[in-house]
Amino acid sequence: QVDESKEVESIVPSYACQRRTTLENHNTVFTDALSLLAESAELSDEDGRGVAFRRAAAVLKALHSPVTDLLQLRGLPCLGGHSLRVIKDVLENGASSEVECTKQSERFKALKVLTGIFGVGSKTAERWIREGIHSLPQLQDSAHTLNRAQQAGLEHYDDLNQPVTKAEGDAIGEIVAKAVMSVLPGVQITLIGGFRRGKLTGHDVDFLITHPEEGREVGLMPKVVSWLESKGFLLYQKTTRNSYLESKDGPARPSSNMDRFERCFSIFKLPEDAKQGTTQTETLTEDTPEDTCRLTTPSLVKDEGSESTKRANLKPWRAVRVDLVVSPISQFAFALLGWTGSKLFERELRRWAGHEKAMSLSSHALYDNTQSKYLRASSEEEIFAHLGLEYIPPSERNA
Ligand code: ATP
Ligand code: MN
Ligand code: MN
Repeated sequence: QVDESKEVESIVPSYACQRRTTLENHNTVFTDALSLLAESAELSDEDGRGVAFRRAAAVLKALHSPVTDLLQLRGLPCLGGHSLRVIKDVLENGASSEVECTKQSERFKALKVLTGIFGVGSKTAERWIREGIHSLPQLQDSAHTLNRAQQAGLEHYDDLNQPVTKAEGDAIGEIVAKAVMSVLPGVQITLIGGFRRGKLTGHDVDFLITHPEEGREVGLMPKVVSWLESKGFLLYQKTTRNSYLESKDGPARPSSNMDRFERCFSIFKLPEDAKQGTTQTETLTEDTPEDTCRLTTPSLVKDEGSESTKRANLKPWRAVRVDLVVSPISQFAFALLGWTGSKLFERELRRWAGHEKAMSLSSHALYDNTQSKYLRASSEEEIFAHLGLEYIPPSERNA
């Protein structure tokens, strides 16, 4: 007799970084439910519970067929009692009462709306909710002074809450490529984040910038930002030097060459014609529903100055969140792996490294605590090999 539970377990190993998770999800009813509870926990600063739900959802994402019976879950890792109750509820009733309850709760709705503003995290939202602010009009009527990021976030609220398409991502990529090339020829630019994993839409577009000669990338970001600003492509930007040295991320903190890691959170002003420029080969119908939707969605937020909402809705551009990261070539593979995601996949890689290999992994380096030395790598494949993991390509990191 075959031990069935053992068999299932060997098909689904417990760390997400040991599994291949494509975008083809056969269990969306369950994973949507669990993801919503994860989101709710994260918005309430209950990160532990959030991760537990994310891990449970990720296990179901890795299955090759839909779950139709609880018995099929025997032996699967990461499914705690709470997650199993949710799955059971969905199986028996078509929906989870806890999920439905959460979705309808005023608190959750307010947290979603307020953290939907770029620059507003759960802590700020929480504080506002305690003061009775549950909506954008209430926020605008309140006496709160918003920081620069939040002001931009509020101003471009509708655009920024509209998913970014791959075509828009590509159009942004062309602009960023032009910027970096005119600032420093020879620069390499790589699409990272969700689009590198093959997602068709995202909440932003992420790029990693490097130069094949170590050191040439120093000081690059301010120049790129100036170029973009001079051409009118930026609605907002905040460039931060690497905060890695100050972080509490553990011992993977090499000394001097680390403080060059720079990133830029930005909001791009993407001209509609730039977008069309790169989508010419695609059918027009793909763009239409999105545009129609944007035109008919009433703007909750007053747009800048007077000429009012009418013009704002017909504006020939849209706001898009863009993240730029500059890495020295010596850290490129680590940055690439660390910024490709998914967030859970990254978290699991670090947990694997720490718990199973006594190593510390970051977006900068891999440190072997046993040998007391850094392990070099010039490709993602080498990092997986150092970690004793089978290589998982980006399209299969969608945990
Ligand atoms: P989406 O398509 O919705 O944008 P995404 O997977 O691209 O999804 P992002 O939030 O853009 O999600 O993050 C991309 C990757 O960058 C993730 O793997 C995340 O771990 C990493 N990342 C994001 N913020 C930071 C940060 N402050 N420091 C280090 N890594 C980060
Ligand atoms: Mn992203
Ligand atoms: Mn991002």
